Amino acid sequence: MDDDIALLAQRLRTGERAALARAITLVESRKPSHQTLARALMQDVLPATGAAVRIGITGIPGVGKSTLIDTLGSSLTRAGRSVAVLAVDPSSTRTGGSILGDKTRMAQLVNEPLAFVRPSPTGGTLGGVAARTREAMLLCEAAGFEVIVVETVGIGQSETAVADMTDVFVLLVLPGAGDQLQGIKKGIVELADLIVVNKADDDPARAEAAAAEYRAALHVLQPVSPVWSPRVLTISGLKNQGVDRLWAWIEDHRRRLQANGALAAKRRQQQIRWMWSMLEDRLRSRMHGDPRLRVILPRLENEVGAGRLPVASAVEEIALALGL
Ligand code: GDP
Repeated sequence: MDDDIALLAQRLRTGERAALARAITLVESRKPSHQTLARALMQDVLPATGAAVRIGITGIPGVGKSTLIDTLGSSLTRAGRSVAVLAVDPSSTRTGGSILGDKTRMAQLVNEPLAFVRPSPTGGTLGGVAARTREAMLLCEAAGFEVIVVETVGIGQSETAVADMTDVFVLLVLPGAGDQLQGIKKGIVELADLIVVNKADDDPARAEAAAAEYRAALHVLQPVSPVWSPRVLTISGLKNQGVDRLWAWIEDHRRRLQANGALAAKRRQQQIRWMWSMLEDRLRSRMHGDPRLRVILPRLENEVGAGRLPVASAVEEIALALGL
């Protein structure tokens, strides 16, 4: 089996598509035997990762994410750069579908030889879906992809998860209507490195007005990074207007972060946070499945709910039962 993994890793590093697809399927599998192999594979390919530009893109359904990724991705592949598109879509857990399940969403890009489009892994918690997408991202890097786009719809905490696995985070918004009307959740604007007002072809003046509003909103926020202040631009993903400028800004962002080591520091912190969140997920599921806890939990919940037992005492009893 180890030989198989070494061979798979080797084929992957030569950029073989079938090997990449198989490797991603392996890291997405939740069978314990597959997970052991997946860990060996990740260990093997890790030195070959890290070279890609990692871009996160979010926005409400219908804002134009797939159209933009199709336009931007195709222009990059036509210029000779390889592009992988991945997704974090925790809703696919419930619906069984996926935001990238329908390949017609990126009709041009899927036919580009230098592109690789992979739907969101399905099933499990957001943490699990995000972890598998992260590993898929590293596998794409090991396979030589130069640009990786991770898309997410704003459901739950998926935007935060995507911002935390990418170098630059792009928030796509519609012209007109304020954040609340657009359903943009509080805190998402603060995560964005670039705010992109899409569909500017419909009504350029309205798009510019929206951009001005976002610039004013950003002005009152403290920039997170000393080397980068978030910027706002208007584009049309559909008509390919302003998309080259968006790419120029993404490159500028990268240059600035690389110049003083901020990119490496950001990635280092992301890795460590990933380790903790994976560990916390694991501890949580272990805890919920613990038979010792199942015995005492109904009584404790009952007592705490009825106000007869202080929460701290219940927690103490649980911790003792679990040997913590
Ligand atoms: P997603 O759900 O965010 O991926 O959005 P889509 O890319 O599927 O786009 C939703 C709808 O908006 C589709 O009918 C697109 O043709 C349309 N659309 C996307 N981008 C633009 C744009 O730049 N201008 C205009 N006018 N329509 C757009």
